[in-house]
Amino acid sequence: MGSDPLAVTAERIRVLYGQAGPVLAANLINGSLMLAALWEGAAQWRLTVWGSGLALLILLRASLYILYRQSDHADAKLPAWGRRYTAGAALSGALWGSTAVLFLQGDDPLSLMLVSFVIGGMAAGAMTGLASHLPAFYGFLALSVLPLVGRLLSLGDRLHLIMGAMMTVFVVAMLVIGRSYNRSLTRGLQLAEENRRLLASRESEVRARTADLVAANSRLRDEIVERQRAERALDEARAEAVCANQAKSRFLAAASHDLRQPMQSMFLFCQALRYHLPDDKGRAALLMLERGLNTLRDLLDSLLDVSRLDVNVTRTKLTGFPLRPLLGEIVDAYGPIAATKGLQVGIAPMPEVHVTSDRHLLGRMVRNLVENAVRYTERGQVTVACRSIDDKLRIEVCDTGIGIPAEQLGRIFEEFHQVANPERDKSRGLGLGLAIVQRLSVILGHRVEVRSELGKGSVFSIELDRAAGASAAPGMAAEEADGDVDIGQQGQGKMIVVVDDDPMVLLGLRDVLERWGYEVVIADGADQALARLGSPARRPALVVADYRLRSGRVGTEAIERIRALSGTAVPGIILTGETGDECRNEASQHSFDLLHKPVSSHQLAFVLKNLAGV
Ligand code: ADP
Repeated sequence: MGSDPLAVTAERIRVLYGQAGPVLAANLINGSLMLAALWEGAAQWRLTVWGSGLALLILLRASLYILYRQSDHADAKLPAWGRRYTAGAALSGALWGSTAVLFLQGDDPLSLMLVSFVIGGMAAGAMTGLASHLPAFYGFLALSVLPLVGRLLSLGDRLHLIMGAMMTVFVVAMLVIGRSYNRSLTRGLQLAEENRRLLASRESEVRARTADLVAANSRLRDEIVERQRAERALDEARAEAVCANQAKSRFLAAASHDLRQPMQSMFLFCQALRYHLPDDKGRAALLMLERGLNTLRDLLDSLLDVSRLDVNVTRTKLTGFPLRPLLGEIVDAYGPIAATKGLQVGIAPMPEVHVTSDRHLLGRMVRNLVENAVRYTERGQVTVACRSIDDKLRIEVCDTGIGIPAEQLGRIFEEFHQVANPERDKSRGLGLGLAIVQRLSVILGHRVEVRSELGKGSVFSIELDRAAGASAAPGMAAEEADGDVDIGQQGQGKMIVVVDDDPMVLLGLRDVLERWGYEVVIADGADQALARLGSPARRPALVVADYRLRSGRVGTEAIERIRALSGTAVPGIILTGETGDECRNEASQHSFDLLHKPVSSHQLAFVLKNLAGV
């Protein structure tokens, strides 16, 4: 990068003015001393005129200096200031040069020495005072020294000739040294100027970079703020979704509870209707109706399960229990259905292990997986296995069925997601089984995994903790298969008391039970039941009571009061539309059987068949 010549020239002129003070002071002092030295010998009027000229010139140059100081120092204006200074220097040179003509007398060695000395001194001083600006330097040097050289040479004698020659050599030397001083000053100024410009351009580069960085930084900050806002919105949306889901689940729980009552009567009246249908056509239609009701009940059960799991009302009862019997019960229950498809269902040889879990809920998980395996397998077998992996156990439900496409594996656990049932044929599942498995796996802390190969089969696994010791756990309620349970006239006139605050359920139950040969006493609460049993009380063979009765009364209390009245531990069944823990706990405390509404007549028959003495 080159330097700007104007800027360098301007800088040189600034240096020139910077020396003005000492230069004028030297003029004043030297001039005064010279006048004092010559006062005795020379014509005094000349000295006076010369002295006045010097004083005037010093004043003029001082004024110029002051004006310069007060003006603005823009580079472009400085050459003019340089010319003004040069003019002053030239006048000064001429004034000093005039001393050789005015005061040097050939026969007076003192004047010769004094004038030569003063002019030589002033010329040497011009080196530092003026050489920064060559026109001023040259002007001063020429006008101050050349008259002296001329005067010395004009005197013609040997001494003056030698002095003239010496003065010439001196002037030439001064010129050379002045020029070289000027050149190095110029070079220095050029370098300084280049540095300044370099610095300025670097500075502007740095400023530009800094501005870029600041802009990038603020963009980044904006982005962070934006992202935080998005995350907050996402959190809020998630929380809202969770709330909405819980509200939906609460609604479902309430709705499904309310649906159970009428459904119960529908089941019972279906059964009652059977005896009034004379021909096979009518019975076939009834069978379809019952199937529809069964699907409705299954859907309701699953929906309620999902919603209860969602609102966390399911409490777990963790115990240690042997695993094999549980798996055995499940496999046995699915054996008959599998057999109709020509499938084998079995348990692979497994160690006698105990696990820690909630037996009921774990059973539900395995049952759902086995049900799916049987449903989605047309040939081969369904095998339940149990492997030890370190201190964990893994239950595997393996099938040789249709398999699941890889891209569906992540979605099958979503509620109502089915891989291939676009027409939503309910006989092909409801799409809730795995959703329940997934929720239970979270509640119980059992990891569930699936691997599958399309066309070859699937393996669903549940990982759980091995229990340290064996502690017995209650057996799982036997699952009754839906089928025609014919108990004929099993009742043989034995009495069953039915307590329910819903007249439809009462009438339906009475109808069905009377068909089976029972005498039925119906009551809307304990008081009515006791009144109807009379005094002395007749002894019923069984009490079937709804759990939640009017005025805050419960079915367990009703059964207990009938027991007290009749003086025997009459068997009791709690038939309820509620699925909460309170009801289950109450029933098991009193050793009553528990049935959930709606029960089909098949289920009811199954239970009665297995109750001793009923
Ligand atoms: P569904 O009532 O439809 O069986 P699930 O939630 O239990 O509902 O299962 C969801 C879907 O996952 C099923 O519709 C089926 O496509 C697929 N699936 C589940 N288990 C298996 C299996 N063992 N083999 C093949 N596909 C399965």
